[in-house]
Amino acid sequence: MRISMISEHASPLAALGGVDAGGQNVHVAALSIALARRGHRVTVYTRRDAPDLPAKVRVQPGLEVVHIDAGPASHVPKDELLPFMGALADGVARDWGNSPPDVVHGHFWMSGMAALDAGRRQPAGFRVPVVQTFHALGTVKRRHQGADDTSPAERRFLEPSVGRSADRIIATCSDEVFELKSMGIDTGKVSIAPCGVDLDLFSGAGPADSKTRSHRILSVGRLVPRKGVDLVIRALVHLRDAGFEDVELLIVGGGGAADGHDPEARRLLDLARDLGVADQVELRGQVPREAMPGIFRSADAVACTPWYEPFGIVPLEAMACGIPVVAAAVGGLTDSVVDHGTGLHVPPKDPEAIADALATLLASPELRTKLGRAGERRAKARYSWSRVAAETEKAYQLAIAGAADAASLEPMEGAAL
Ligand code: UDP
Repeated sequence: MRISMISEHASPLAALGGVDAGGQNVHVAALSIALARRGHRVTVYTRRDAPDLPAKVRVQPGLEVVHIDAGPASHVPKDELLPFMGALADGVARDWGNSPPDVVHGHFWMSGMAALDAGRRQPAGFRVPVVQTFHALGTVKRRHQGADDTSPAERRFLEPSVGRSADRIIATCSDEVFELKSMGIDTGKVSIAPCGVDLDLFSGAGPADSKTRSHRILSVGRLVPRKGVDLVIRALVHLRDAGFEDVELLIVGGGGAADGHDPEARRLLDLARDLGVADQVELRGQVPREAMPGIFRSADAVACTPWYEPFGIVPLEAMACGIPVVAAAVGGLTDSVVDHGTGLHVPPKDPEAIADALATLLASPELRTKLGRAGERRAKARYSWSRVAAETEKAYQLAIAGAADAASLEPMEGAAL
């Protein structure tokens, strides 16, 4: 198959280079590599966000990344990219020329708009079938972030309209299917394909970094309030009261302790100081992907306690490394982390419950080993990128077949209905 992917703000090259690895960068990179390995020809289109980027980068046989001029050649926050989606669609359609792909896959709602737009700019009677992965939904974001949501106002109606117009939607977890239904989208055209985890990189076998205290709790991710890292800092106080004093919390991602410009890093450090646990908390800052497995293996437990989470690759990486996860029972985490199977579920925004779950794990090396081993097995059995690519491929086939059926029902030119 010839597959185009559009990922307007998240270049797979960032994940591959290890500089700025958010979940979407990692997802698009790993999925496109896995599809290329299955023999498909994949082109990933992303916005040029630096002037010196080459027009095309050949990543491996069957996979190239194309930088499209759409808006300024510099970093633009994703919530300000909407005005440039027409230019992105122009660039994609121009690159296709007279040989469009079999399917175009949009990542995030704005890329979905560009995919639909480019897909329609084809000779009469033909359009490129569109598959859409939202990664995050505006309805969920608004519910949790309220006035702090910086998404453009148009997202309210444009995102559902992308969902209604796409030939097929890939939801990354079962919770997302309910959200799509409540947006008025026909769930008959939704397939579920989760995110995967790089099992070559993340595994229980391999060296672990050293820790500085008897127990290490790990938190990994972008430093934004909705990831709930402050809740884990608060949990340290309850843990101390419960007799677990020699515990460190390592926070990886975002600005480190030395970065005075990251407001969330500042807020977390201030909170730790105010609560009297500053000496137990380390903010390491952004770490390259290659260094992540050793860090995961050094932890006794990984805490993933977001307010909401469209999918969450971090718990999969923890499980693949054999480390139990304390997971807020929200979004994708309810699918990926099995309560009392590969980790412990806690209610969202509840530092005491987080502390109780962590105390249960820290008190029992046997339980940690049991849950960790089960996590490793689950990650291998269900979340390899080759399996995710195979499921994605099925969604592509359904989209192509559906678009062909729809085209055969369209009236021929000049024919009256
Ligand atoms: N990550 C990383 N280095 C860091 C922080 C995060 O490589 O310093 C990676 C992490 O291992 C995971 C991804 O970034 O692969 C975060 O994905 P997730 O889905 O958990 O969160 P998102 O950023 O999409 O909200």
